[in-house]
Amino acid sequence: ASASGGNRFQLYEPAMSSQAERHSAIERRLRLALTTDGLSLAYQPKVNLRSGLIEGVEALLRWEDDELGRVTPDEIIPVAEATGLIVPLGQWVLRTACQCFGTDAPFERPLSVAVNVSALQLDDRQFTRKLTRILEETGFPAERLELELTESALVHNPEHARVTLTELRALGLTFAIDDFGTGYSNLAQLRRLPIQTLKIDRTFMMGVTTSAQEAAIVKAVMALAHALELHVVAEGIETPAQLDFIRELGGHHYQGYLCSKPLDRSGLLAFMKALPGT
Ligand code: C2E
Ligand code: CA
Ligand code: CA
Ligand code: CA
Repeated sequence: ASASGGNRFQLYEPAMSSQAERHSAIERRLRLALTTDGLSLAYQPKVNLRSGLIEGVEALLRWEDDELGRVTPDEIIPVAEATGLIVPLGQWVLRTACQCFGTDAPFERPLSVAVNVSALQLDDRQFTRKLTRILEETGFPAERLELELTESALVHNPEHARVTLTELRALGLTFAIDDFGTGYSNLAQLRRLPIQTLKIDRTFMMGVTTSAQEAAIVKAVMALAHALELHVVAEGIETPAQLDFIRELGGHHYQGYLCSKPLDRSGLLAFMKALPGT
């Protein structure tokens, strides 16, 4: 037992310390990136399932660091949440997205912009005030800003979430529940919130044309959304068969590689210019 214990220790310990090192390297470089304009956003089109028109985008964090190379949001966000950097980072994301699609933006139609918001940002008692300031400073219309919140963000501190969402709703913002179906949905609790949209997680959409079980889950979510008069956005649509499936069920919008990967601002402009009929 002692030999195997020794082995396990040797195998385990370097992994642990390199993970901790990676975490602190990300923290250090992220602090710097926040003050030196080292971050960027990519925008993924959100397509109307009936008209085929791009009506909005989701803003997604991108980071190409000189030392660390490309770091994905799945790595950045947990470090940002653990260190409190999520608050300034989240502010930066909101401000940048609003600036990019403001009134003087060169897009042919006004696009709605969806921004991912972490539970810890909602916990910030100054969130409404800071967001109001960003809208004022960028001139971005609140009606076109949608916040994407996960179920866990909403049930984390439900009474505070309800107060904050109600304040923001009064300003004109809308809200989507992200990754719907993957969390511990307390439907009674969610019902008390001013939510307009459910986003069906990509992990469900992946299987809809091959697995009867996944298809049944998505059908049940669609039925629920219709009963509650909520919009449905399907994430991660990669094939025409997935698109047909969700369109026939009466979904409203989709995102996915079938239309486009997330693009930088100029890539999005070029992509939209090249589309027929727009
Ligand atoms: P999410 O909000 O569920 O975003 C969808 C993710 O799926 C994005 O990954 C997007 O690039 C990817 N995706 C979109 N369409 C497809 C597809 O057809 N196939 C496949 N395989 N993937 C697709 P990304 O950009 O790596 O972001 C991962 C997660 O990180 C996001 O998941 C979101 O939870 C979080 N995140 C990203 N940006 C932010 C941010 O600014 N703030 C916060 N709090 N979280 C963010
Ligand atoms: Ca999202
Ligand atoms: Ca998702
Ligand atoms: Ca997510």
